[in-house]
Amino acid sequence: MTYDVAIVGAGITGAAIARELSRYRLKVLLLEKEAEPAFGVSKSNSGIIHAGTQNPPTSVKAWLCVEGNRLLRGGLAADLGLHFVQCGQLIVVFDLKDLPELEKIKKEGADLGIKGLELVDRAWLAGHEPNLGPEVKAALYVPTAGIISPYRFVYALVENAVKNGVELKTSRRVTAIRRPAGGGFELEAGGEVYRSRFLVNAAGLFADEVSALAGAPTFKITPRKGEEYLLDKKREHIANHIIFPLPSKNSKGILIIKTSDGNPMIGPTAHDSGDKTDLSTTDDGLAEVLAGARRMMPSISKGDIIAYFAGLRPVSGKDFIIRHEDAAPGLVNAAGIQSPGLTSAPAIAVMVADLLRKHGLALEAKADFHRTRPRTVHLFQVPPEETRRLVKKDPAYGDIVCRCELVSAQEIRDAVRRGAATLDGIKFRTRAQAGRCHGGFCTTRIIKIMQEELGFPVTAITKRGPGSELIKDERK
Ligand SMILES: Cc1cc2nc3c(=O)[nH]c(=O)nc-3n(C[C@H](O)[C@H](O)[C@H](O)COP(=O)(O)OP(=O)(O)OC[C@H]3O[C@@H](n4cnc5c(N)ncnc54)[C@H](O)[C@@H]3O)c2cc1C
Repeated sequence: MTYDVAIVGAGITGAAIARELSRYRLKVLLLEKEAEPAFGVSKSNSGIIHAGTQNPPTSVKAWLCVEGNRLLRGGLAADLGLHFVQCGQLIVVFDLKDLPELEKIKKEGADLGIKGLELVDRAWLAGHEPNLGPEVKAALYVPTAGIISPYRFVYALVENAVKNGVELKTSRRVTAIRRPAGGGFELEAGGEVYRSRFLVNAAGLFADEVSALAGAPTFKITPRKGEEYLLDKKREHIANHIIFPLPSKNSKGILIIKTSDGNPMIGPTAHDSGDKTDLSTTDDGLAEVLAGARRMMPSISKGDIIAYFAGLRPVSGKDFIIRHEDAAPGLVNAAGIQSPGLTSAPAIAVMVADLLRKHGLALEAKADFHRTRPRTVHLFQVPPEETRRLVKKDPAYGDIVCRCELVSAQEIRDAVRRGAATLDGIKFRTRAQAGRCHGGFCTTRIIKIMQEELGFPVTAITKRGPGSELIKDERK
Protein backbone atom coordinates (compact mmCIF):
# COMPACT_ATOMS: atom_id res chain seq x y z
CA MET A 1 0.00 0.00 0.00
CA THR A 2 1.38 3.42 -0.94
CA TYR A 3 0.05 6.46 0.93
CA ASP A 4 -0.34 9.75 -0.89
CA VAL A 5 1.23 11.63 2.01
CA ALA A 6 3.15 10.49 5.08
CA ILE A 7 3.48 13.06 7.86
CA VAL A 8 6.24 12.63 10.44
CA GLY A 9 5.30 14.04 13.85
CA ALA A 10 1.94 14.28 15.65
CA GLY A 11 2.45 17.56 17.47
CA ILE A 12 0.24 20.56 16.71
CA THR A 13 1.90 21.08 13.32
CA GLY A 14 1.55 17.49 12.07
CA ALA A 15 -1.94 17.19 13.58
CA ALA A 16 -3.17 20.36 11.86
CA ILE A 17 -1.66 19.23 8.54
CA ALA A 18 -3.25 15.78 8.88
CA ARG A 19 -6.66 17.34 9.57
CA GLU A 20 -6.30 19.77 6.66
CA LEU A 21 -5.32 16.98 4.23
CA SER A 22 -8.22 14.85 5.49
CA ARG A 23 -10.57 17.23 3.63
CA TYR A 24 -9.35 15.68 0.38
CA ARG A 25 -9.59 12.28 -1.27
CA LEU A 26 -6.12 11.19 -0.14
CA LYS A 27 -4.53 8.30 1.76
CA VAL A 28 -2.71 10.01 4.62
CA LEU A 29 -0.44 8.44 7.24
CA LEU A 30 0.56 10.21 10.48
CA LEU A 31 3.63 8.70 12.16
CA GLU A 32 4.59 9.55 15.74
CA LYS A 33 7.57 8.22 17.69
CA GLU A 34 5.95 8.62 21.12
CA ALA A 35 3.15 6.48 22.60
CA GLU A 36 0.62 9.26 21.93
CA PRO A 37 0.30 12.51 19.99
CA ALA A 38 1.17 15.80 21.73
CA PHE A 39 4.05 14.36 23.77
CA GLY A 40 6.65 16.68 22.14
CA VAL A 41 6.94 20.49 22.25
CA SER A 42 3.17 20.81 21.89
CA LYS A 43 2.61 19.60 25.46
CA SER A 44 4.93 22.15 27.09
CA ASN A 45 3.96 25.66 26.15
CA SER A 46 1.94 28.65 27.32
CA GLY A 47 -1.29 27.77 25.47
CA ILE A 48 -1.69 31.29 24.13
CA ILE A 49 -3.47 31.93 20.87
CA HIS A 50 -1.50 35.03 19.99
CA ALA A 51 -3.12 37.87 18.09
CA GLY A 52 0.01 38.26 15.96
CA THR A 53 1.72 41.27 17.55
CA GLN A 54 5.43 41.09 18.55
CA ASN A 55 6.62 39.13 15.49
CA PRO A 56 8.97 40.68 12.90
CA PRO A 57 6.35 42.24 10.58
CA THR A 58 7.83 40.86 7.34
CA SER A 59 8.34 37.31 8.68
CA VAL A 60 6.35 34.28 7.51
CA LYS A 61 5.39 33.59 11.13
CA ALA A 62 3.86 37.07 11.50
CA TRP A 63 1.11 36.53 8.93
CA LEU A 64 0.71 32.81 9.72
CA CYS A 65 0.06 33.78 13.34
CA VAL A 66 -2.56 36.38 12.42
CA GLU A 67 -4.18 33.89 10.04
CA GLY A 68 -4.05 31.01 12.57
CA ASN A 69 -5.73 33.23 15.16
CA ARG A 70 -8.39 34.25 12.60
CA LEU A 71 -9.10 30.62 11.59
CA LEU A 72 -9.40 29.47 15.20
CA ARG A 73 -11.70 32.30 16.29
CA GLY A 74 -13.56 32.18 13.00
CA GLY A 75 -14.91 28.66 13.46
CA LEU A 76 -12.19 26.03 13.94
CA ALA A 77 -12.38 26.11 17.76
CA ALA A 78 -16.17 25.70 17.64
CA ASP A 79 -15.98 22.99 14.93
CA LEU A 80 -13.55 20.95 17.04
CA GLY A 81 -15.47 21.49 20.29
CA LEU A 82 -12.52 23.32 21.87
CA HIS A 83 -12.71 25.57 24.91
CA PHE A 84 -11.08 28.73 23.52
CA VAL A 85 -11.24 31.79 25.76
CA GLN A 86 -10.69 35.12 24.04
CA CYS A 87 -9.50 36.95 27.14
CA GLY A 88 -7.28 39.48 25.33
CA GLN A 89 -3.73 40.50 26.08
CA LEU A 90 -1.99 43.51 27.61
CA ILE A 91 1.59 44.51 26.74
CA VAL A 92 2.64 46.68 29.66
CA VAL A 93 5.39 49.30 30.09
CA PHE A 94 7.05 50.38 33.30
CA ASP A 95 8.11 53.79 31.99
CA LEU A 96 6.10 56.21 29.87
CA LYS A 97 9.29 56.78 27.86
CA ASP A 98 8.54 53.34 26.31
CA LEU A 99 5.20 54.44 24.87
CA PRO A 100 6.75 54.85 21.36
CA GLU A 101 7.59 51.11 21.51
CA LEU A 102 3.94 50.31 22.16
CA GLU A 103 2.92 52.68 19.34
CA LYS A 104 5.30 50.78 17.02
CA ILE A 105 3.83 47.37 17.99
CA LYS A 106 0.34 48.83 17.51
CA LYS A 107 1.13 50.17 14.04
CA GLU A 108 2.87 46.95 12.91
CA GLY A 109 -0.07 44.92 14.24
CA ALA A 110 -2.66 47.10 12.56
CA ASP A 111 -0.70 46.83 9.27
CA LEU A 112 -0.95 43.03 9.60
CA GLY A 113 -4.73 43.34 9.98
CA ILE A 114 -5.01 42.85 13.76
CA LYS A 115 -8.19 44.56 14.92
CA GLY A 116 -9.03 46.54 18.05
CA LEU A 117 -5.52 47.48 19.25
CA GLU A 118 -5.73 50.26 21.81
CA LEU A 119 -3.29 52.11 24.07
CA VAL A 120 -4.64 52.22 27.63
CA ASP A 121 -3.56 54.32 30.59
CA ARG A 122 -3.11 53.70 34.29
CA ALA A 123 -6.77 54.58 35.07
CA TRP A 124 -8.03 52.01 32.53
CA LEU A 125 -5.66 49.41 33.98
CA ALA A 126 -6.83 50.11 37.55
CA GLY A 127 -10.39 49.32 36.46
CA HIS A 128 -9.68 46.30 34.28
CA GLU A 129 -6.63 44.68 35.88
CA PRO A 130 -6.66 45.75 39.56
CA ASN A 131 -3.82 43.43 40.69
CA LEU A 132 -1.19 45.10 38.51
CA GLY A 133 1.57 46.70 40.59
CA PRO A 134 2.39 50.41 40.78
CA GLU A 135 5.37 50.08 38.43
CA VAL A 136 3.05 49.42 35.45
CA LYS A 137 2.30 52.75 33.78
CA ALA A 138 0.40 51.97 30.55
CA ALA A 139 -0.30 49.12 28.13
CA LEU A 140 -1.31 48.10 24.65
CA TYR A 141 -4.63 46.22 24.77
CA VAL A 142 -4.87 43.41 22.20
CA PRO A 143 -8.42 42.00 22.28
CA THR A 144 -8.08 39.12 19.81
CA ALA A 145 -5.55 37.08 21.84
CA GLY A 146 -6.81 34.16 23.89
CA ILE A 147 -6.03 30.86 25.58
CA ILE A 148 -6.59 27.19 24.83
CA SER A 149 -5.49 23.81 26.16
CA PRO A 150 -2.57 23.01 23.83
CA TYR A 151 -2.82 19.23 24.17
CA ARG A 152 -6.57 19.14 23.75
CA PHE A 153 -6.09 21.22 20.61
CA VAL A 154 -3.76 18.48 19.24
CA TYR A 155 -6.05 15.64 20.32
CA ALA A 156 -9.09 17.30 18.73
CA LEU A 157 -7.27 17.76 15.42
CA VAL A 158 -5.97 14.18 15.42
CA GLU A 159 -9.36 12.73 16.39
CA ASN A 160 -11.08 14.66 13.62
CA ALA A 161 -8.36 13.72 11.09
CA VAL A 162 -8.73 10.02 12.02
CA LYS A 163 -12.52 10.29 11.74
CA ASN A 164 -11.88 11.58 8.21
CA GLY A 165 -9.69 8.63 7.28
CA VAL A 166 -6.13 9.57 8.34
CA GLU A 167 -4.19 6.59 9.72
CA LEU A 168 -2.40 7.41 12.97
CA LYS A 169 0.47 5.14 14.01
CA THR A 170 2.14 5.87 17.34
CA SER A 171 5.36 4.40 18.78
CA ARG A 172 6.80 4.63 15.24
CA ARG A 173 10.08 6.53 15.21
CA VAL A 174 11.19 7.14 11.63
CA THR A 175 14.76 5.89 11.56
CA ALA A 176 15.52 5.62 7.83
CA ILE A 177 14.11 7.14 4.66
CA ARG A 178 14.89 5.71 1.22
CA ARG A 179 14.08 6.97 -2.28
CA PRO A 180 12.93 3.95 -4.33
CA ALA A 181 13.72 3.96 -8.08
CA GLY A 182 10.02 4.38 -8.96
CA GLY A 183 9.79 7.66 -6.94
CA GLY A 184 8.31 8.61 -3.59
CA PHE A 185 9.59 7.66 -0.18
CA GLU A 186 10.12 4.48 1.82
CA LEU A 187 10.12 5.05 5.57
CA GLU A 188 11.35 2.68 8.24
CA ALA A 189 9.49 3.23 11.49
CA GLY A 190 9.01 0.97 14.50
CA GLY A 191 10.26 -2.09 12.61
CA GLU A 192 7.87 -1.57 9.69
CA VAL A 193 8.22 -0.06 6.23
CA TYR A 194 5.75 2.52 4.87
CA ARG A 195 5.62 3.92 1.34
CA SER A 196 4.32 7.32 0.34
CA ARG A 197 4.33 9.59 -2.70
CA PHE A 198 4.90 12.77 -0.66
CA LEU A 199 6.51 13.34 2.72
CA VAL A 200 5.75 16.11 5.22
CA ASN A 201 8.27 16.64 7.97
CA ALA A 202 6.69 18.08 11.15
CA ALA A 203 9.13 16.46 13.57
CA GLY A 204 9.60 19.47 15.87
CA LEU A 205 12.98 19.39 17.61
CA PHE A 206 14.10 16.53 15.36
CA ALA A 207 12.98 18.02 12.03
CA ASP A 208 16.59 18.72 10.98
CA GLU A 209 17.44 15.03 11.44
CA VAL A 210 14.34 13.84 9.55
CA SER A 211 15.01 16.28 6.69
CA ALA A 212 18.60 15.00 6.47
CA LEU A 213 17.34 11.37 6.40
CA ALA A 214 15.14 12.33 3.45
CA GLY A 215 18.10 13.82 1.56
CA ALA A 216 17.83 17.52 2.50
CA PRO A 217 20.32 18.38 5.29
CA THR A 218 19.49 22.05 4.78
CA PHE A 219 19.04 23.45 8.33
CA LYS A 220 19.80 22.87 11.99
CA ILE A 221 17.43 23.04 14.96
CA THR A 222 18.66 24.61 18.21
CA PRO A 223 16.40 24.12 21.22
CA ARG A 224 15.49 27.26 23.19
CA LYS A 225 14.35 26.33 26.66
CA GLY A 226 11.38 27.92 28.38
CA GLU A 227 10.60 27.23 32.03
CA GLU A 228 6.98 27.72 33.15
CA TYR A 229 5.52 27.75 36.68
CA LEU A 230 1.86 26.92 37.38
CA LEU A 231 0.03 28.62 40.24
CA ASP A 232 -2.68 27.18 42.46
CA LYS A 233 -6.27 27.42 41.23
CA LYS A 234 -7.07 29.59 44.25
CA ARG A 235 -5.24 32.36 42.31
CA GLU A 236 -7.46 31.74 39.26
CA HIS A 237 -8.77 35.33 39.19
CA ILE A 238 -5.44 37.04 39.67
CA ALA A 239 -5.54 38.40 36.10
CA ASN A 240 -8.26 39.02 33.54
CA HIS A 241 -5.92 39.18 30.53
CA ILE A 242 -2.66 37.56 29.47
CA ILE A 243 -0.05 40.07 30.61
CA PHE A 244 3.19 40.66 28.70
CA PRO A 245 6.06 43.10 29.24
CA LEU A 246 7.73 44.65 26.18
CA PRO A 247 9.37 41.83 24.18
CA SER A 248 13.10 41.13 24.47
CA LYS A 249 15.50 40.17 21.63
CA ASN A 250 14.82 36.41 21.92
CA SER A 251 11.33 36.14 23.34
CA LYS A 252 8.08 37.77 24.32
CA GLY A 253 9.35 38.05 27.91
CA ILE A 254 8.07 36.65 31.22
CA LEU A 255 4.27 36.62 31.16
CA ILE A 256 1.34 36.17 33.51
CA ILE A 257 -0.86 33.70 31.66
CA LYS A 258 -4.45 32.84 32.32
CA THR A 259 -4.89 29.23 31.25
CA SER A 260 -8.04 27.74 29.82
CA ASP A 261 -8.20 25.27 32.74
CA GLY A 262 -8.04 27.89 35.50
CA ASN A 263 -4.55 27.75 37.01
CA PRO A 264 -2.62 30.89 36.16
CA MET A 265 0.92 30.32 34.91
CA ILE A 266 4.06 32.47 34.95
CA GLY A 267 6.97 32.21 32.52
CA PRO A 268 8.53 31.24 30.17
CA THR A 269 12.27 31.85 30.19
CA ALA A 270 14.09 31.77 26.84
CA HIS A 271 17.64 30.40 26.81
CA ASP A 272 19.35 28.49 24.00
CA SER A 273 20.30 24.95 24.95
CA GLY A 274 22.56 22.38 23.31
CA ASP A 275 20.43 19.45 24.42
CA LYS A 276 17.15 18.41 22.73
CA THR A 277 16.19 16.32 25.75
CA ASP A 278 16.94 18.74 28.61
CA LEU A 279 13.56 19.51 30.19
CA SER A 280 14.95 20.39 33.62
CA THR A 281 13.79 23.42 35.56
CA THR A 282 16.36 25.41 37.51
CA ASP A 283 16.67 27.71 40.53
CA ASP A 284 17.89 30.48 38.21
CA GLY A 285 14.86 29.97 35.95
CA LEU A 286 12.49 30.15 38.93
CA ALA A 287 14.17 33.35 40.19
CA GLU A 288 13.98 34.95 36.73
CA VAL A 289 10.31 34.03 36.27
CA LEU A 290 9.27 35.15 39.76
CA ALA A 291 11.12 38.49 39.41
CA GLY A 292 9.56 39.14 35.98
CA ALA A 293 6.02 38.24 37.08
CA ARG A 294 6.22 40.05 40.43
CA ARG A 295 7.35 43.28 38.77
CA MET A 296 3.97 43.28 36.97
CA MET A 297 1.95 41.74 39.82
CA PRO A 298 3.69 41.94 43.21
CA SER A 299 1.16 39.72 45.03
CA ILE A 300 2.42 36.60 43.20
CA SER A 301 4.56 34.54 45.58
CA LYS A 302 6.67 31.40 45.46
CA GLY A 303 4.07 29.69 47.70
CA ASP A 304 1.47 29.98 44.92
CA ILE A 305 3.47 27.62 42.69
CA ILE A 306 2.12 24.05 42.55
CA ALA A 307 3.91 22.63 39.49
CA TYR A 308 6.54 23.49 36.92
CA PHE A 309 7.87 22.25 33.61
CA ALA A 310 10.17 23.23 30.78
CA GLY A 311 9.59 23.15 27.04
CA LEU A 312 12.08 23.47 24.19
CA ARG A 313 11.27 25.72 21.24
CA PRO A 314 12.55 24.19 17.98
CA VAL A 315 14.47 27.20 16.65
CA SER A 316 16.23 27.55 13.29
CA GLY A 317 17.04 31.21 12.67
CA LYS A 318 14.34 33.80 13.28
CA ASP A 319 11.48 32.35 11.21
CA PHE A 320 9.58 29.15 10.45
CA ILE A 321 10.91 26.93 7.62
CA ILE A 322 7.92 25.96 5.48
CA ARG A 323 9.03 24.92 2.04
CA HIS A 324 9.33 22.22 -0.56
CA GLU A 325 12.92 20.92 -0.63
CA ASP A 326 14.21 20.83 -4.19
CA ALA A 327 17.10 18.65 -2.94
CA ALA A 328 14.51 15.97 -2.06
CA PRO A 329 11.57 16.32 -4.48
CA GLY A 330 8.27 15.53 -2.78
CA LEU A 331 9.48 16.55 0.69
CA VAL A 332 7.77 19.50 2.38
CA ASN A 333 9.34 20.73 5.61
CA ALA A 334 7.25 22.39 8.33
CA ALA A 335 10.20 22.96 10.63
CA GLY A 336 11.67 25.47 13.05
CA ILE A 337 8.15 25.91 14.40
CA GLN A 338 9.06 28.00 17.41
CA SER A 339 6.54 30.34 19.05
CA PRO A 340 3.86 31.19 17.88
CA GLY A 341 3.59 27.69 16.38
CA LEU A 342 0.55 26.65 18.40
CA THR A 343 -1.38 29.64 17.08
CA SER A 344 -0.07 29.38 13.53
CA ALA A 345 -0.66 25.62 13.05
CA PRO A 346 -4.03 25.86 11.23
CA ALA A 347 -2.55 28.38 8.80
CA ILE A 348 0.69 26.38 8.40
CA ALA A 349 -1.49 23.41 7.45
CA VAL A 350 -3.21 25.35 4.67
CA MET A 351 0.19 26.54 3.41
CA VAL A 352 1.62 22.99 3.43
CA ALA A 353 -1.41 21.64 1.52
CA ASP A 354 -0.89 24.37 -1.05
CA LEU A 355 2.83 23.53 -1.41
CA LEU A 356 1.96 19.86 -1.94
CA ARG A 357 -0.59 20.86 -4.59
CA LYS A 358 1.98 23.05 -6.36
CA HIS A 359 4.36 20.07 -6.46
CA GLY A 360 1.90 17.65 -8.02
CA LEU A 361 -0.52 16.37 -5.36
CA ALA A 362 -4.11 16.53 -6.59
CA LEU A 363 -6.39 17.98 -3.89
CA GLU A 364 -9.91 16.79 -4.62
CA ALA A 365 -12.41 17.75 -1.90
CA LYS A 366 -14.28 14.89 -0.15
CA ALA A 367 -18.04 15.12 -0.24
CA ASP A 368 -18.29 13.41 3.16
CA PHE A 369 -15.72 15.44 5.13
CA HIS A 370 -16.76 15.60 8.83
CA ARG A 371 -15.97 19.19 9.78
CA THR A 372 -17.08 18.96 13.39
CA ARG A 373 -16.15 16.95 16.45
CA PRO A 374 -18.42 16.67 19.51
CA ARG A 375 -17.26 18.66 22.52
CA THR A 376 -15.88 16.61 25.43
CA VAL A 377 -17.34 17.04 28.92
CA HIS A 378 -15.12 18.62 31.60
CA LEU A 379 -17.00 18.97 34.89
CA PHE A 380 -14.66 21.75 36.06
CA GLN A 381 -15.94 23.85 33.15
CA VAL A 382 -19.69 23.23 33.47
CA PRO A 383 -22.16 24.97 35.82
CA PRO A 384 -23.73 22.92 38.70
CA GLU A 385 -27.13 22.55 36.98
CA GLU A 386 -25.40 21.00 33.94
CA THR A 387 -23.44 18.66 36.26
CA ARG A 388 -26.72 17.57 37.89
CA ARG A 389 -28.20 16.84 34.46
CA LEU A 390 -25.13 14.79 33.45
CA VAL A 391 -25.13 12.77 36.69
CA LYS A 392 -28.82 12.00 36.25
CA LYS A 393 -28.16 10.75 32.73
CA ASP A 394 -25.03 8.81 33.67
CA PRO A 395 -24.16 8.29 37.38
CA ALA A 396 -20.47 7.76 36.46
CA TYR A 397 -20.27 11.57 36.13
CA GLY A 398 -20.97 11.69 39.86
CA ASP A 399 -18.14 9.29 40.65
CA ILE A 400 -15.31 11.79 41.20
CA VAL A 401 -11.90 10.22 40.63
CA CYS A 402 -9.65 13.30 40.79
CA ARG A 403 -10.80 15.56 43.62
CA CYS A 404 -8.20 18.28 43.05
CA GLU A 405 -9.40 18.95 39.49
CA LEU A 406 -12.97 17.57 39.70
CA VAL A 407 -12.68 14.79 37.12
CA SER A 408 -15.21 11.95 37.06
CA ALA A 409 -14.87 8.26 36.18
CA GLN A 410 -16.94 8.89 33.05
CA GLU A 411 -14.47 11.54 31.79
CA ILE A 412 -11.58 9.08 32.27
CA ARG A 413 -13.49 6.37 30.36
CA ASP A 414 -14.31 8.84 27.60
CA ALA A 415 -10.62 9.85 27.32
CA VAL A 416 -9.60 6.18 26.93
CA ARG A 417 -12.30 5.62 24.31
CA ARG A 418 -10.99 8.64 22.40
CA GLY A 419 -7.45 7.24 22.30
CA ALA A 420 -5.68 7.85 25.65
CA ALA A 421 -3.37 4.90 26.25
CA THR A 422 -1.08 6.23 29.00
CA LEU A 423 -1.47 8.07 32.32
CA ASP A 424 -0.07 11.26 30.78
CA GLY A 425 -2.55 10.89 27.92
CA ILE A 426 -5.34 10.82 30.54
CA LYS A 427 -3.85 13.81 32.37
CA PHE A 428 -3.53 15.96 29.25
CA ARG A 429 -7.07 15.14 28.08
CA THR A 430 -8.89 15.40 31.44
CA ARG A 431 -6.58 17.13 33.99
CA ALA A 432 -6.86 14.15 36.37
CA GLN A 433 -3.45 14.02 38.22
CA ALA A 434 -2.69 17.68 37.34
CA GLY A 435 -3.71 19.25 40.66
CA ARG A 436 -2.04 19.86 44.02
CA CYS A 437 -1.67 16.15 44.92
CA HIS A 438 -0.09 15.30 41.52
CA GLY A 439 -2.07 12.08 41.23
CA GLY A 440 -1.28 10.84 44.74
CA PHE A 441 -4.94 10.00 45.38
CA CYS A 442 -6.33 9.23 41.92
CA THR A 443 -3.66 7.30 40.01
CA THR A 444 -4.73 3.86 41.26
CA ARG A 445 -8.39 4.55 40.34
CA ILE A 446 -7.32 5.71 36.88
CA ILE A 447 -5.19 2.59 36.37
CA LYS A 448 -8.18 0.43 37.31
CA ILE A 449 -10.45 2.20 34.80
CA MET A 450 -7.77 1.95 32.08
CA GLN A 451 -7.39 -1.75 32.82
CA GLU A 452 -11.16 -2.27 32.49
CA GLU A 453 -11.39 -0.24 29.28
CA LEU A 454 -8.24 -1.45 27.52
CA GLY A 455 -8.12 -4.99 28.83
CA PHE A 456 -4.39 -4.58 29.63
CA PRO A 457 -2.79 -6.12 32.70
CA VAL A 458 -1.90 -3.33 35.16
CA THR A 459 1.79 -4.07 34.56
CA ALA A 460 1.37 -2.85 30.96
CA ILE A 461 0.01 0.56 31.97
CA THR A 462 2.64 3.27 31.66
CA LYS A 463 3.03 6.92 32.49
CA ARG A 464 4.16 7.93 29.00
CA GLY A 465 5.05 4.77 27.05
CA PRO A 466 7.46 1.83 27.32
CA GLY A 467 10.01 2.22 30.10
CA SER A 468 7.64 4.19 32.37
CA GLU A 469 5.60 1.27 33.77
CA LEU A 470 4.38 1.90 37.33
CA ILE A 471 3.66 -1.63 38.50
CA LYS A 472 6.12 -4.50 38.24
CA ASP A 473 5.26 -8.23 38.37
CA GLU A 474 7.95 -9.53 40.77
CA ARG A 475 7.05 -13.13 39.88
CA LYS A 476 8.64 -12.69 36.44
C1 LIG B 1 7.95 27.30 26.70
C2 LIG B 1 7.19 27.44 25.40
C3 LIG B 1 6.07 28.26 25.34
C4 LIG B 1 5.38 28.41 24.14
N1 LIG B 1 4.22 29.13 24.14
C5 LIG B 1 3.50 29.24 23.00
C6 LIG B 1 2.27 29.94 23.00
O1 LIG B 1 1.79 30.38 24.04
N2 LIG B 1 1.60 30.08 21.83
C7 LIG B 1 2.09 29.58 20.66
O2 LIG B 1 1.47 29.81 19.63
N3 LIG B 1 3.24 28.85 20.64
C8 LIG B 1 3.94 28.66 21.78
N4 LIG B 1 5.09 27.92 21.79
C9 LIG B 1 5.51 27.26 20.56
C10 LIG B 1 4.76 25.97 20.30
O3 LIG B 1 4.70 25.17 21.45
C11 LIG B 1 5.48 25.20 19.19
O4 LIG B 1 5.64 26.06 18.09
C12 LIG B 1 4.70 23.98 18.74
O5 LIG B 1 4.29 23.20 19.83
C13 LIG B 1 5.56 23.13 17.81
O6 LIG B 1 4.78 22.03 17.43
P1 LIG B 1 5.35 20.93 16.45
O7 LIG B 1 4.22 20.06 16.12
O8 LIG B 1 6.07 21.58 15.32
O9 LIG B 1 6.44 20.16 17.31
P2 LIG B 1 6.17 18.98 18.37
O10 LIG B 1 5.02 19.25 19.22
O11 LIG B 1 7.47 18.70 19.05
O12 LIG B 1 5.79 17.76 17.45
C14 LIG B 1 6.75 17.05 16.72
C15 LIG B 1 6.46 15.57 16.91
O13 LIG B 1 7.34 14.82 16.09
C16 LIG B 1 7.68 13.63 16.76
N5 LIG B 1 8.91 13.13 16.14
C17 LIG B 1 10.14 13.67 16.19
N6 LIG B 1 11.03 12.90 15.50
C18 LIG B 1 10.32 11.87 15.00
C19 LIG B 1 10.68 10.74 14.21
N7 LIG B 1 11.93 10.53 13.80
N8 LIG B 1 9.70 9.85 13.89
C20 LIG B 1 8.40 10.03 14.30
N9 LIG B 1 8.03 11.09 15.07
C21 LIG B 1 8.97 12.00 15.40
C22 LIG B 1 7.85 14.10 18.20
O14 LIG B 1 7.75 13.04 19.11
C23 LIG B 1 6.73 15.12 18.33
O15 LIG B 1 5.54 14.55 18.86
C24 LIG B 1 5.82 27.74 22.98
C25 LIG B 1 6.92 26.89 23.05
C26 LIG B 1 7.59 26.71 24.24
C27 LIG B 1 8.74 25.76 24.32
